[in-house]
Amino acid sequence: MNRLLLLLTFAALLADAQPAMLDDAVRLKDAALDGMTAFPMLEELLAGGHRFSGSEGYERAVIWAEKAMSKAGADSVWLQPVTVPRWVRGARERSVMTLSGKRHPLAVRALGGSVGTGPAGVTGRVIEVRSLEEAAALGPRAKGAVIFYNRAFDRTKVNTFEAYGGAVDQRGRGAIEAAKVGAAAVLVRSMTNAADDVPHTGAMRYHDSVPKIPAAAIGAASAERLSRALRSGTEVSVTLTMDCRTLPDVESHSVIGEIRGTERPDEVVLLGAHLDSWDLGTGAHDDGSGVVQCIDVLSLYRRLGMRPKRTVRVVLFANEENGLRGARAYAAFAERSPQRHIAAIETDAGGFAPRGFTTDADSVRFRRLMEAMPLLDVVNAGSLRPGSGGADVDQIRTPGIVHIGLRPEDQRYFDHHHADTDTLGAVHPRELQLGSAALAILAWYIAESDL
Ligand SMILES: [Zn+2]
Repeated sequence: MNRLLLLLTFAALLADAQPAMLDDAVRLKDAALDGMTAFPMLEELLAGGHRFSGSEGYERAVIWAEKAMSKAGADSVWLQPVTVPRWVRGARERSVMTLSGKRHPLAVRALGGSVGTGPAGVTGRVIEVRSLEEAAALGPRAKGAVIFYNRAFDRTKVNTFEAYGGAVDQRGRGAIEAAKVGAAAVLVRSMTNAADDVPHTGAMRYHDSVPKIPAAAIGAASAERLSRALRSGTEVSVTLTMDCRTLPDVESHSVIGEIRGTERPDEVVLLGAHLDSWDLGTGAHDDGSGVVQCIDVLSLYRRLGMRPKRTVRVVLFANEENGLRGARAYAAFAERSPQRHIAAIETDAGGFAPRGFTTDADSVRFRRLMEAMPLLDVVNAGSLRPGSGGADVDQIRTPGIVHIGLRPEDQRYFDHHHADTDTLGAVHPRELQLGSAALAILAWYIAESDL
């Protein structure tokens, strides 16, 4: 009889917990959409220009973020030292295609980390390939040539991040494979679904065993023009001029702020975004949106007087784009820390309307997270699928941690990714705000539960 009573009490408690949680979710949604505080923060952050690692703009953003977190009501805010790489683009890049004696300009921007060409530029005949394997198979034919990687996104992929994943090896390893066969430079078709001529930069790598050759992103329309010229059968040459170079590393910081848990302060629910951006545009979607959403979550809890049982910590990582050094420094800190990281939620997929989350949680905790999805339905973000958390939070590998990634609508994300067009006007205030609400609801659920 006693056991039955206990069971009944437990069932009643459970039934009580969900409506209370649903109530909290609705309050968070209402406060988010009524307050609309994320977009004005984004406007302030972006006013400082881009936030590329090692730049003055990044250091301005550190000062801004420290203040913004205090203003949002964080119990404590601190800076975590990180040594970051410093690469500078220099004067605007130029590229000219020569076809039957006529010169045609092409839209290019250096890939991040590329060496420059020297003032005279690099000239070579162009060979188009669709893959790293095709480049490797060129053999001696490639000597002195400009290898042009032109495999576009697979348009049949509904998830644009999958299309990106299927093409980005050309940007990451293209220069290495081309250098192995003696090429002089590489042009890489921009990682985008858009058909415009805006080049999209991004990280690329070299290998010490082969020469470092200049690498540039070429706009999609320019890539089509170049490909058409090559199909005409005439010899096509390109001159690429870039002034970029790598300077010594710079001392910098990630910015961390938190609301301390009332009952389990040593258990951390982490919200992460990256404070740095590329040096084109102002990183509005990537990842200014994520930064202000995380800060907004703290401010929502404060405004509603909601004190989480577990500590909710916001980490604004330094140097995601060209090094992940902020995330690695935090991961090392987490290893040494006596605190336990329960979950790390990343928002780095754009400030578009939230649709759901991905997670690497085991089956037991996946089911627990599924129980939170009716709460997320309040902001149309109630989908949970297996997947990763994100580039930064996945670096934290303390025992038992669950990585979670916010997944917004993604059809337009790669139109702006790492490009001049990733600016304030590309972000919609309500979509951005719904993302804050989704993060606030999920972090609250985890902070209050025994996940
Ligand atoms: Zn990003």
